[in-house]
Amino acid sequence: MSDFPEFIQFLYEKYRNLDSGKLACYIPELTKANPNWFAISIITTEGEVFEIGDNQENFTIQSISKVFIYGMALEDCGREILLEKIGVEPTGDPFNSVIRLDENSKRPDNPMVNAGAIATAGLIAGRDPTERLNRMLDMFGRYTGRKVFIDVPVFMSERATGHRNRALANLMLNFGMIGSNIDEILDLYFQQCSVVVNCYDLALMAATLANRGINPITRERAVKSGYVRDILSVMYTCGMYNYAGEWAYRVGIPAKSGVSGGIMAVVPDRAGIAVFSPLIDRCGNSVRGLRVFEELSDRFKLHLFDLG
Ligand code: GLN
Repeated sequence: MSDFPEFIQFLYEKYRNLDSGKLACYIPELTKANPNWFAISIITTEGEVFEIGDNQENFTIQSISKVFIYGMALEDCGREILLEKIGVEPTGDPFNSVIRLDENSKRPDNPMVNAGAIATAGLIAGRDPTERLNRMLDMFGRYTGRKVFIDVPVFMSERATGHRNRALANLMLNFGMIGSNIDEILDLYFQQCSVVVNCYDLALMAATLANRGINPITRERAVKSGYVRDILSVMYTCGMYNYAGEWAYRVGIPAKSGVSGGIMAVVPDRAGIAVFSPLIDRCGNSVRGLRVFEELSDRFKLHLFDLG
């Protein structure tokens, strides 16, 4: 651990000029990101912080939110009921794929792809949209240790242009997979994706999962410890979309990425790690993020199956 500062400095210098990949442009507001932003944060389960780069730069959490909403749905519905409604099978398809939703599928494949995440948002408890939104923001706040907000322009931008997600919701309604209040469900989904975080926050959120659900800085519990296992399992098998297999092979720790350029990974009982860099590859994963995680995993033997 004492080598972390030096090594992340080395990785930061090595990859800061790597400029392959593209900004996500299908959500118009995301094109305003600065392609040079680059940050690496590590927070241990003891609350030690190691970071370098643009750690305080704000961005929307996007798909990384799916992990935490899944945890919330587990608490709201329980494991068995949730499993009846949303599967845990990796798809090998892109995150926004429509192809596996058909008459024969009783439920979306998993909560880390858009279809499953939209269905998960539909299971969040609350009397009305405001209560559900507030519960969701409080939940994120327990992981970040501070109040979180929504980036309204990003939310509005995705709400106005998210036709594909709307199509997924309509298909799932047709197949009886979600309730009929799809506009409310989609709003909550777009809002969860628009929660504003920085790289430090993501590392702390991951560290909270690494620490069995207790935020290592505030000591507050963010999620029941019994559900951490479920969350990490779907992150491990499905968190990196159609790169999940290669990620498991090369890096070997549960992780989740988002199209705004964040990747968050959990080293159980040890640390949360986050990398932020907005240029993403064809699977929707940060290009610099992938390189940094590969090297970190090799250097510190983070791969869960690296038995030495
Ligand atoms: N809000 C984005 C979407 O639904 C999130 C996708 C992502 O981060 N991969 O398309």
